[in-house]
Amino acid sequence: MAVSIDFTGKRGVVFGVANQRSIAWAISERLAEAGAELAFTYLNERLKEPVEKTTAKLKNSLLLQCDATQDDQVEAVYDHIKNEWSEIDFVVHCIAYAERDDLGGDFSSTNIQGFRTALETSAYTLMPVVGKASTLFGESGGSVITLTFDASQRVYPGYNIMGTAKAALENEVRQLAVEFGNRNIRVNAISAGPLPTLAARSIPGFRDMTRAHRERSPLQRNINHQEVADTALFLLSPMSSGITGAVLPVDAGYGIVAL
Ligand code: NAD
Repeated sequence: MAVSIDFTGKRGVVFGVANQRSIAWAISERLAEAGAELAFTYLNERLKEPVEKTTAKLKNSLLLQCDATQDDQVEAVYDHIKNEWSEIDFVVHCIAYAERDDLGGDFSSTNIQGFRTALETSAYTLMPVVGKASTLFGESGGSVITLTFDASQRVYPGYNIMGTAKAALENEVRQLAVEFGNRNIRVNAISAGPLPTLAARSIPGFRDMTRAHRERSPLQRNINHQEVADTALFLLSPMSSGITGAVLPVDAGYGIVAL
């Protein structure tokens, strides 16, 4: 018997839709199917049109500009949402970026600017996104998810500075879970296997990663967007009420295999 998760009457903010292949979009479609109302952010004017096109089929959704490395822009998003909805139930953080030059090549040649860009965008942004959202969650609390990758723990040549950023992000998940746990605000990460998206295209070893996951994972295949979206719904819903500060792998088991 199929078990469905009902998000009727629930509202949330999704950071990180760029196009139809975005993991954030797969999650959003499932959330909308389950009855949720969504607010989306787009990074800049260049991305406005593709994000508008992607999200247009979801009625009643909000669309707001936000560079999440700018605290005032994150604040403005939540101010706008507070005026529209007064409260939210969940937040989806799917934000990552590193300079192309810092993906591939020697990790040690990453310069301070490249380090800052990757860490500020891919790790720092979770802090204001959760911190400022905390004032919009109601008495029953809320749930936040972010997306990470196994390169936080193990070396994937080419992923370079993004591995450092994901390690920082996962640490933030634990610290935020502790900070907001007493208000029943849960913070978790999904560690997804490789999926073909805009961000993934700029990782030089991406095809090797995909092949290795397919050949060596216990399930002997790659994961798909839908599997990440289903796990996201679980983590955003009360079905996962006892889980916080966790990094949940959706990787066909690749992370447990040594050889
Ligand atoms: P994507 O390119 O579709 O999404 C990345 C998003 O980050 C884009 O929407 C982009 O606009 C946004 N972004 C970048 N800088 C921003 C900023 N300063 N402020 C606000 N938004 C900003 O790619 P994706 O693969 O769907 O990535 C989503 C998340 O999933 C990322 O954290 C990524 O590291 C993670 N992830 C991806 C994979 C994969 O194989 N694709 C695997 C594991 C984890």
